[in-house]
Amino acid sequence: MATKSAIITGASSGIGQAAAKELAGQGYSVMLAARREDRLAELKQAIEEAGGTAEYLVTDVTSADQMKALAEAAIEHFGRIDVLLNNAGLMPLSFMNKLKLDEWDRMVDVNIKGVLYGIAAVLPQMESQKEGHIINISSVAGHSVTPGSAVYSGTKFAVRAISEGLRQEIDPAMAIRVTIVSPGAVATELVNTITDDDVLNGFKEGPEMEFLQAEDIARAIGYAVQQPAHVDVNEILIRPRQQP
Ligand code: NDP
Repeated sequence: MATKSAIITGASSGIGQAAAKELAGQGYSVMLAARREDRLAELKQAIEEAGGTAEYLVTDVTSADQMKALAEAAIEHFGRIDVLLNNAGLMPLSFMNKLKLDEWDRMVDVNIKGVLYGIAAVLPQMESQKEGHIINISSVAGHSVTPGSAVYSGTKFAVRAISEGLRQEIDPAMAIRVTIVSPGAVATELVNTITDDDVLNGFKEGPEMEFLQAEDIARAIGYAVQQPAHVDVNEILIRPRQQP
């Protein structure tokens, strides 16, 4: 018999890794995706040692073909796709006059197109199942813009627009849900993608606060998927208590 299954992009670190453990703990068979195979293999082993079921496929979310192959692999292993967590992302914040065009391109490719390719890869299967749940990770930066966040915020505003449009278009006869999760500052490797020294120096002057942990966001994701089928948690906005 097919078990519940979830695909998680960006599972090699941070929020994706924690969400994979959370969903595996809830009984989902998880299909892990990212580019770093060693990390995915370690996570698969950890989940299996904890009694869960996991497979992985090395996947670059900027390739529609690889995302399609990822969905096919999930169906091959687990028979169905109940949840897609579109989580992979990067945040090379920079001031626009630094003209970091490569970073702008990468953010558009991963943060926006990656989400779109994920939706394209799973929607036909979810429609044929007449149920499913797509969870897209946006950000507090998808609600407001600050100096240095223009392009990143643009991608995260886009994630919210795409998610809301998709939600409205779902045939009401289909039990397909769409959820946006918008975290504030979470202690992960994400800041390592920043190359603009002015942005990094600005961080040092920022307010002191206790950051969220990836597990805090994983629990929010766990909450959304646990709701009964008639409940669609549209968005969860979650900040560290001390974040302005
Ligand atoms: P991490 O840097 O810890 O994780 C990012 C993940 O994305 C990694 O697993 C990385 O895997 C994956 N990834 C990056 N590029 C690609 C790609 N081209 N193809 C496949 N996977 C890719 O950061 P977080 O866990 O913090 O970030 C997860 C999401 O949360 C992102 O969308 C981020 O924007 C969002 N977010 C994070 C916040 C924070 O404060 N940390 C706040 C708000 C939102 P690999 O390199 O192995 O491919």
